[in-house]
Amino acid sequence: MTDCDLCGKGLPTLIPVRTYPPLFKFAYPEGVWKGLCETCLDSAQKTYLGVNKDEVSCRNNKCALCGHKGRAHPVELQVPDFSKGTVKKEVNLCMKCLESIDKAYIKFKREQIECSACGHGHH
Ligand SMILES: [Zn+2]
Ligand SMILES: [Zn+2]
Repeated sequence: MTDCDLCGKGLPTLIPVRTYPPLFKFAYPEGVWKGLCETCLDSAQKTYLGVNKDEVSCRNNKCALCGHKGRAHPVELQVPDFSKGTVKKEVNLCMKCLESIDKAYIKFKREQIECSACGHGHH
């Protein structure tokens, strides 16, 4: 079991997302892998898709994933709560993490569908 780095949910497998924590820039120039559950990945990717349309929604904050301080975008999470089932929680993610999440999301969905022959997504 591994815990999701955003909501803390324990799952047998998580989707790997590469982040670039500013504090570990020299120790890990290749970035640090974080694990997200599908629910968090979904919510964060939705935020990512809305970012370009809605530039004003960004605020100065600390990224919940890599710790980067600066422009961040709010992501609404469904956090497991043992008394209420799930509770909503908002976290802030920086653009760099959102971009990594989008990449991870596309890769994950592609592997899930296993649709290599249909030609969708070909540019
Ligand atoms: Zn999660
Ligand atoms: Zn970040």
